[in-house]
Amino acid sequence: MTLPVTLPLPPKVGMVSLGCPKALVDSERILTKLRSDGYAMSADYAGADVVLVNTCGFLDSAKEESLAAIGEAIAENGRVIVTGCMGNEADVIRAKFPQVLAVTGAAQYEQVVSAVHEAAPPVPSPFVDLVPEGGLKLTPRHYSYLKISEGCNHRCKFCIIPSIRGDLVSRPANAVVREAEKLVGAGTKELLVISQDTSAYGVDIRHATSALHGRDIRAHVTDLARELGQSGAWVRLHYVYPYPHVDELIPLMAQGLILPYLDIPFQHASPTVLRAMRRPANEAKVLERIRRWRDICPDIALRSTFIVGFPGETEEDVAYLLDWLEEAQLDRVGCFKYEAVEGAAANELPGAVPEDVKQARWERFMATQARISAAKLQAKIGRTLDVIIDEVDDEGGATGRSKADAPEIDGQVHLRDAGGLKPGDIISAEIEDADDYDLFGVPTEGPR
Ligand code: SF4
Repeated sequence: MTLPVTLPLPPKVGMVSLGCPKALVDSERILTKLRSDGYAMSADYAGADVVLVNTCGFLDSAKEESLAAIGEAIAENGRVIVTGCMGNEADVIRAKFPQVLAVTGAAQYEQVVSAVHEAAPPVPSPFVDLVPEGGLKLTPRHYSYLKISEGCNHRCKFCIIPSIRGDLVSRPANAVVREAEKLVGAGTKELLVISQDTSAYGVDIRHATSALHGRDIRAHVTDLARELGQSGAWVRLHYVYPYPHVDELIPLMAQGLILPYLDIPFQHASPTVLRAMRRPANEAKVLERIRRWRDICPDIALRSTFIVGFPGETEEDVAYLLDWLEEAQLDRVGCFKYEAVEGAAANELPGAVPEDVKQARWERFMATQARISAAKLQAKIGRTLDVIIDEVDDEGGATGRSKADAPEIDGQVHLRDAGGLKPGDIISAEIEDADDYDLFGVPTEGPR
């Protein structure tokens, strides 16, 4: 006998769509996304768990009509989210209707969908959901990339990203944290926060707050790091430019809330080259700040990338860079030879560096950093470190990473006598040996 299965009832969304055909297409797009998230549609106010009013703000008469529609939805249902062109006048709407649940602007799809999730959370159903909790992933289950923004407001001369992806567009903080929660619920043990410019997160939306679980979260990298740190996963920050407020992240690392790891793309150290590159946050006192960061959080691992052979780079600039590298003692470093990418403004600069000179500079750079890296890893021999397991083999060995190592780009910890472990386990391991980039050790304490 087959037992009847009762499917959970999905929340219902009502929609009042005003304005031009563009607004109508926006409404369709929002509803399509909500439908794929498992929501049902309601044709009347009474059956809806939440009502969306997509407004028009083109003319005064359209604004009047939008305000009247919001008023009607509040009177008939009470749980109302406003979006669309008039959403750009949130103050006017909130002054007249303080009880609206959220106000989002035109084409802010993610914000409006996020507000609906907050007002009427979707009911997961293994029978009807096409996408697993946490989404479809191309990374192993135990780590996930978490994109917090798209685009960039800077115009570094060697980079064409802003011309491809446009200016900075930050996701609302509640959408980022909600995604992180889903990922952790689906088995993620490590969140890798990415963007083009993580420290600038929220600048474009003036660090607006958004609600999650009855609390307001500010779209600012420090607040976000604090929130993500409470997810229980390792939180690793990438592409953090050294703006002054980055100093606020270091105490969170010292407290163990986020990983003591900063991926800071310095690109060069010579002030002349940095100026020619038009790098953001190019300030002289970086070495002093690094020293302070290490005082606060001695285990902090600093990763960076550099470019040698930028147009106009001289032998003095390279000497400055190598001296700086010796002083900075960075943990993980990548170096590229400058390439004249089509469309990059730097291609117009005088002083192109010949290929053989670039190669020689790159080799000097890499030899310097290999020596620094080897010495730093030697100092870890005898220590016990937390290691997240990435792979296990058939002979009782395993490969993982310490808190100082991001997947794909940094080193690994190779473990012997690691039988019984599985990817995603976080264990303690005693470090027995090291080479230029990797560590070797043995587990001392099982997964936790
Ligand atoms: S290098 Fe980074 S900061 Fe500079 S323009 Fe490109 S994405 Fe923006």
